[in-house]
Amino acid sequence: MIKLQNVEKVYKSENGNVTALNDINLEFESSGMVFVVGRSGSGKTTLLNIIGSLDHIDNGEVSVTFPNEDEYNLSAASEKELDEYRNLHVGFVFQEYNLLKDWSIRDNILLPVRQQYTEGAEQEEEKILEQVLHETDLNIKPERKANELSGGQAQRVAIARAIVKNPEIILADEPTGNLDAETGRAIVGLLHNISRTGGSLVLMTTHNLHLLHEFPGQVY
Ligand code: ADP
Ligand code: MG
Repeated sequence: MIKLQNVEKVYKSENGNVTALNDINLEFESSGMVFVVGRSGSGKTTLLNIIGSLDHIDNGEVSVTFPNEDEYNLSAASEKELDEYRNLHVGFVFQEYNLLKDWSIRDNILLPVRQQYTEGAEQEEEKILEQVLHETDLNIKPERKANELSGGQAQRVAIARAIVKNPEIILADEPTGNLDAETGRAIVGLLHNISRTGGSLVLMTTHNLHLLHEFPGQVY
């Protein structure tokens, strides 16, 4: 479960301070699909970055408890603990895909696995790759470069990379933002499927209210 209590986030700059989140109290269960909806500038990206511990809060408390009772107090944890939390428990999907363009699909997807190299992992790699290509419905040669892909394919590769280590939390920030309506719908369908079959929590931001009518999930 993810719990935010009295969370405040203020961006400080030369042009003054911007309060992105003001006294936010939210709880998310450990699995399922959750849509975070709001207009541009309402703080969706800020919220996801905080839950992914890519950004710090200024006030309040953020804690994450997993079903195995592993617990992280993100607002008080050390950098080492936060690295562990991100590496083991969170997968990120972005509007811009954030793939390494000159790298192959294989190398992009396996990057999180290779960052954590353990003995014998090399033999496992092909099996893992095959599995996530299947899960993301990618019928494409893994040798191909990321920059040869369509938007929809690129986002599927990004999702494959996000789920390759079976994280409990998948954070998808406007994952359909650069896609046409039909491709976007397919991507939300895929994320929805992952939340159902993988037993993970998918937190997805969007400003597109139409998507919400088509897919069951909690809306914030
Ligand atoms: P959303 O994702 O819903 O569009 P954001 O979380 O990106 O909203 O932004 C929330 C508010 O914080 C906006 O007013 C935005 O201008 C501001 N903001 C976001 N990032 C920064 C930053 N790095 N520096 C200063 N202000 C920022
Ligand atoms: Mg945003």
